[in-house]
Amino acid sequence: MGFLSEALGRVAPSATVAISQKARVMAAEGKDIIALSAGEPDFNTPEHVRDAAKRAMDAGKTRYTNVDGIAELKEAVAAKFRRDNGLDVTAADCFVGSGGKQIIFNALMATLNPGDEVVVPVPYWVSYPEIVRLCGAEPVFAVADASTGFKLAPEALEAAISEKTKWLILNTPSNPTGAAYSAEELKGLAEVLMRHPHVHILTDDIYEVLVYDGKSFATIAQVEPELQARTLTMNGVSKSHAMTGWRIGYCTGPKPLLAAMTKLQSQSTTNASSISQWAAVEALNGPQEFLAEWREVFQARRDMVVAGLNANTGLDCLTPEGAFYVFPSCQRLLGKTSAGGTKLDTDEDFVMALLEETGVALVHGTAFGLPGHFRLSYAASNAELEEAVKRIQQFCAGIN
Ligand code: PLP
Repeated sequence: MGFLSEALGRVAPSATVAISQKARVMAAEGKDIIALSAGEPDFNTPEHVRDAAKRAMDAGKTRYTNVDGIAELKEAVAAKFRRDNGLDVTAADCFVGSGGKQIIFNALMATLNPGDEVVVPVPYWVSYPEIVRLCGAEPVFAVADASTGFKLAPEALEAAISEKTKWLILNTPSNPTGAAYSAEELKGLAEVLMRHPHVHILTDDIYEVLVYDGKSFATIAQVEPELQARTLTMNGVSKSHAMTGWRIGYCTGPKPLLAAMTKLQSQSTTNASSISQWAAVEALNGPQEFLAEWREVFQARRDMVVAGLNANTGLDCLTPEGAFYVFPSCQRLLGKTSAGGTKLDTDEDFVMALLEETGVALVHGTAFGLPGHFRLSYAASNAELEEAVKRIQQFCAGIN
């Protein structure tokens, strides 16, 4: 009998660890590393939010809270879903956990049995298939590659659904591609889902505020209200309010599901940090004007990065609608050799050689289920991005 659980044995180690580890070692050796591999805003948490946390501490709001969140935060979450997403919900339909990831974990852990299937569009955020496997269920991958703008087409969804499908996981705007579904595109998916009433939808809207070019964000329960009874709409303050370390995620969904998630959370983390919850109340109820400023900064970075990567490099980079990632194809450069003499057979060879020869750290597409690509996070300063793009261009020019 082994010591470690069989459940853990089903989970793959993080595919991004090798590259991050290498980048750390190189930085420790004094090399000039530009890490564009992380997925968090480079801004600080706004002052008014930090002040709210300080006030909470001083007022003694430092004790256990309700498992599913303090009443004030659940009210703020409900108001946010009504205001921004047109969802007809009250605080009783809302739930708070320690980050968006814990919401997903709770929802899947509370519902999945061995043999169940979860449709995961590819490329995907790395945690979806691993959490599904941890729960003993099977991810069923549906292609959403560059040919459809990295979006799941209704036909691909239809083909992926079986009698065993319990969930579809949607993520818009997407990590790793930045693709964001329009209301019309979601309507196409909703039509398929209306024909399959046994399928629940988990929509991960954590990048909601980062949609560019004046486009509007849309979420599936808003586009097709009939799906609301089987949709878990997940969101959080990590990416929107530069609060990754505070660990607050929230959602709205069917009450029996939220009750099951509450039961699970009561036997794991109990509740999200009380101080962080008070900070999140301020994040959701307080001033939001800075979000538009941040959005403009990110959009300008996106434009600079996309133009630089497409400038005669042999890379092919679509212009994403949102989030802070680009997901270019390096397919045309594979099979060739870098200036440093590395044969570039795979996307992993590409990012490893790029790191080795230029100090720019990216993540290979295979980590997200789609080989022949890489992910670049432009949540970094303009100066770093400009330098990184220059180095990537030089690296590509040296390949033959
Ligand atoms: N969902 C997506 C698509 C993400 O990219 C991330 C973070 O990288 C999360 C969820 C997790 O968010 P949180 O930090 O709130 O757990």
